[in-house]
Amino acid sequence: MTAAYLPLQNLINGACVPARSERCLPVQEPATGNVYATAPDSGAADVDNAIAAAVRAAPEWARTSPAQRALALQQIADAVQARFEEFAQAESRDTGKPISVARRVDIPRAIANLRFFAASAETFASESYAQAGQINYTLRQPLGVVACISPWNLPLYLLTWKIAPALAAGNAVVAKPSEVTPYTAHLLGEVVRDSSLPPGVLNLLHGTGAGCGAALVAHRDVKAISFTGSTATGRAIAQSTAAQFKKLSLEMGGKNATVVFADADFELAVNESVRAAFSNSGQICLCGSRVLVERSLYPRFREAFVARAQALQVGDPSAPETELGALVSQQHLQKVLGCVALAHEEGGRLLTGGARQVIAGRCEQGYFLPPTVFDQLPPNCRTNVEEIFGPVVTLAPFDNEAQALLYANTSDYGLACTVFTSDLARAHRFANAVQSGLVWVNCWMQRDLRVPFGGVKNSGVGREGGWEAMRFFSEAKNVCIAF
Ligand code: NAD
Repeated sequence: MTAAYLPLQNLINGACVPARSERCLPVQEPATGNVYATAPDSGAADVDNAIAAAVRAAPEWARTSPAQRALALQQIADAVQARFEEFAQAESRDTGKPISVARRVDIPRAIANLRFFAASAETFASESYAQAGQINYTLRQPLGVVACISPWNLPLYLLTWKIAPALAAGNAVVAKPSEVTPYTAHLLGEVVRDSSLPPGVLNLLHGTGAGCGAALVAHRDVKAISFTGSTATGRAIAQSTAAQFKKLSLEMGGKNATVVFADADFELAVNESVRAAFSNSGQICLCGSRVLVERSLYPRFREAFVARAQALQVGDPSAPETELGALVSQQHLQKVLGCVALAHEEGGRLLTGGARQVIAGRCEQGYFLPPTVFDQLPPNCRTNVEEIFGPVVTLAPFDNEAQALLYANTSDYGLACTVFTSDLARAHRFANAVQSGLVWVNCWMQRDLRVPFGGVKNSGVGREGGWEAMRFFSEAKNVCIAF
């Protein structure tokens, strides 16, 4: 790699450093296909260094008061806020997502994560149970050193979603962001280096899953792993760490259903289901990629849904009017186009999209795919049960509530489900019965950071968010006093 590229660095023991081997990975801008930066290709030696720094820093950090931890997290949040535009540009450049989305969603939500867990550090409490002659109380103690591994689709948001509760609970952290989108993590490393957080309390390592991630999760000093990414990687981590009994939180893939009943508010259902389908070009684990519509409404809904999808502005992520940017990489575009070919093979009828879109000008070589919609596919075909993670959705009619539930549950995933209906009793019934960790009724992707977040079935093990996350990053110890 030549020096013309932006050299991103690891954060180890409070210093920004290259990989020990000095090997680098190219970082591409998906909107143009150009390499613009290099990231350290960290290996086992870097993992050892980062963990050694974390082991040294952990005991003192565990002794800090909740107020000190809260202050450190607030200062990091303030520093990200102060460099807001730089973070937004980096996020958009790394991922290909529209700059407007990075400004409106990713960076504000990342700051909110840091502030939320700053507050949680101070309010976190544990239980005590009194009865005649004895009191039980539960201590929730830091684990020591924990690993946080995050994916490429919401890089800063998901990184902060993990490291903030881990730090708030008093742990030292070694985090590994995705090698596909390392830029915002590098900027966060600069912010942390310049903050009051003691060296070694938070370390950030760039590198591949095989070269860096695998060594990190296998390390004997790592007591817990919080992972977000694909189900295949989550499974590999679970298998490779089973014998060491590490604590695991695995947030993995999804194949989420959006269910529209005929009594729904039509405009709301169309607008929100299009947003759920195509936000971030369908590259959000919570996107609704199977849209199930009650048969009596189906023709009208299909027409409106396709028209709305076609109206979405695909283009240069740096343009303010762009609503859909590029897919994250050429490899991912090829994977998604493979899913489009499979949908054709399975007999699907293409209603719109389906082929790479060329954007004239600086983005001519970028990885763009317009909103793509199929119907006439059976609920259990591969297109309808496997995760695509792109702007490709299917529409299908259902006859009654029981059939809608059956179709919604026809997937090995169970992350999120969105229901549109004006029948309150049905909303509660459906939410209770659907196999999904998250259910939205008449909305999509509303968040309250206090609630448990995560999926069931192949979508996840463990829950993040709020006190669930604080508890995950703590070891419970019960003390019973007789009197
Ligand atoms: P991925 O599994 O390929 O990579 C995720 C992270 O794991 C990366 O940092 C990668 O380097 C690392 N990794 C890879 N192999 C590893 C190994 N053997 N040991 C340790 N670390 C390893 O996932 P991705 O392609 O980056 O992200 C897309 C996936 O993430 C999709 O399946 C999506 O549904 C899922 N996702 C889930 C959620 C959720 O909350 N459930 C949120 C966002 C994304």
